[in-house]
Amino acid sequence: MGNGNGPILGLDIGGTKLAVALATSAGTVLAETQAPSRATEGPEPMIERLADMARAVVSEAGCTIADVHAIGIACGGPLDPQRGIILNALNNPGWVDVPIVDRIEKALGRPAVLDNDANAAALAEHRFGAGRGADDLVYLTISTGIGGGVIQGGRLMHGANGNAGELGHISVCVDAGRRCHCGSVGCLEAYCSGTNIAARSLEAIAAGEASALEALEPAAVTAEAVAAAVRRGDRLARRVWDETMLLLGGAVVSIIHAFNPSVVILGGGVTGSADLLFDPVRTIVGERAMPWLADVVRILPAELGERTGTLGAVAVAIDRAESAVEP
Ligand SMILES: [Zn+2]
Repeated sequence: MGNGNGPILGLDIGGTKLAVALATSAGTVLAETQAPSRATEGPEPMIERLADMARAVVSEAGCTIADVHAIGIACGGPLDPQRGIILNALNNPGWVDVPIVDRIEKALGRPAVLDNDANAAALAEHRFGAGRGADDLVYLTISTGIGGGVIQGGRLMHGANGNAGELGHISVCVDAGRRCHCGSVGCLEAYCSGTNIAARSLEAIAAGEASALEALEPAAVTAEAVAAAVRRGDRLARRVWDETMLLLGGAVVSIIHAFNPSVVILGGGVTGSADLLFDPVRTIVGERAMPWLADVVRILPAELGERTGTLGAVAVAIDRAESAVEP
């Protein structure tokens, strides 16, 4: 199927932006571009623009589409990675049962594969980022939502139908917990995503708790603003943040017991407040994880930043090709 040493196209379909990169199998980016998703246009115009962006990036790198070894696609789930179908992209309304792999293969004429954005990010950090050299790692992105990916023995864990690693939806609350947008209650994401750190702070203010955050427009009360208020000594912000770290740290402890990783990588927008996040999580892991699991695990910040999506898609293409040739 073409050029085995050729560069790989990574296509990242996000709720706010489309991003494309052409990279080597070592993760060196040869050319890249991004554009607003304009998600309200629906899938077909977005797929056409994505294919145009891919052609432009290949040309900018001085290559032709025939040089491209493979194409990886990363998108928010739920999706069917084996059949290459986006079932219902929660961050892109109207993307229901979209055969994205087929559409991209027809548009660009090269073989393509699909996985969800958090699994893709886990593979990217494993190959090119904070998890280089670690065969057993767990990646957690704490952003608008919370996503995860699990690498075991150097391979991405897929599960029975391709949905393993939905770590944002592990249950962290035994009572009637907060409702999660996945339909369940008490999920990690319902407390610790950036959206929910902000929402819990606003709910406490509405319930009459005093806070300097009251002075802000509700839309300005983001997780970042809550973290800033913690640094200024705001009591409400401190209480919400400490509860968030207890739940997040507890979830990381559970993850360590489930998978015995040598690295847990935390990424996503909320980890921008790293000074308030890594120490409490590491402390809780030290207190609660069984010593023989805690002794081997490092809790590290993600390294790839803006390129997580595109390099994730590239890593999906590499991982799928390697899985195909191994027994
Ligand atoms: Zn959930």
